[in-house]
Amino acid sequence: MSSRARANVDRELILNSQVAQGMTVIGDRWSFMIIRDIYLGVRQFEEFRRRNDVARGTLSARLKSLVEHDILYRHRYQTLPTRYEYRLTEKGLDMYPILLMSWEWETKWGRGRFLPPTLTHKTCGKDMHPRLRCGHCHVVVVPNDVRFSSGKITQSAQKVRPRYQRRSKPKQESGDDSDRHAFTILDVVGDRWTSLVVAAAFFGMQRFDDIASSIGIATNILADRLKLLVDIGVLARVPYQGRPRRFEYHLSEMGRDLYSHTITIHEWTNRWLIREGESPLNLQHKPCDRPLASEVVCSECEKPLVASDVAYEKEFRHREAG
Ligand SMILES: [Zn+2]
Ligand SMILES: [Zn+2]
Repeated sequence: MSSRARANVDRELILNSQVAQGMTVIGDRWSFMIIRDIYLGVRQFEEFRRRNDVARGTLSARLKSLVEHDILYRHRYQTLPTRYEYRLTEKGLDMYPILLMSWEWETKWGRGRFLPPTLTHKTCGKDMHPRLRCGHCHVVVVPNDVRFSSGKITQSAQKVRPRYQRRSKPKQESGDDSDRHAFTILDVVGDRWTSLVVAAAFFGMQRFDDIASSIGIATNILADRLKLLVDIGVLARVPYQGRPRRFEYHLSEMGRDLYSHTITIHEWTNRWLIREGESPLNLQHKPCDRPLASEVVCSECEKPLVASDVAYEKEFRHREAG
């Protein structure tokens, strides 16, 4: 296959990839924060509102969307007057690996005011870090070990459209709009387009025009997201040509560390949004030469992590200055 043809296949892959589909469902920061809070034990409308300083209309629209997508369901916990709380469906509970990998990245690289909670594994009794590894050969999943190829493009893949395209910035999490020294994981993946720019980088897209056509993004939005990712340090801007000077965007170590998070979104989408045998994108794990099926395990005892076996504080801790 010529490199040009190869590039065209790659574009098709990203446009239809599981990550793109998953991000149409969960790709905005409010939805992400709601799911995170539910895992921290928040159930009720007013408590979501208080913790996140979010407008009623916005919160109610996001909750409604998550219920429509079968990630949450409403549970009546009181009559006279009737009151409901929100709980995770099976599909929502299965997002636990995504949450764990986002917390891990946040703990290591985030610069927000708050640190994710320390995770304690009740099974072994130790404070731990979640690790994403191959379920077959148990090697930790890293970008260079994964080969991808085009699968069957689904009807549903072609139909998906994002519901929320605008980026909104909650005050509590990201601080001042212009302050990119106080970023969190939500600045990096709490927005559909930013996530897709990161995914494009994992597929080897490094130049502006290639990224633009591979994810179908408007050039002004792409310029904005690339600047954000460079300012944060996820991407490095590297010159590849002088006169006129042109740049490529390369993933930094911080950027490559987002891989496990991207993979968990890919796999969740595979399990829930894609019909059996119709995956647009196939991932193969090179060390064992089998289709990638990852698992999240405890760094201390290496047992797979189940939400009910992990303990943490409900309130976020303040990050130490410096
Ligand atoms: Zn493997
Ligand atoms: Zn453990």
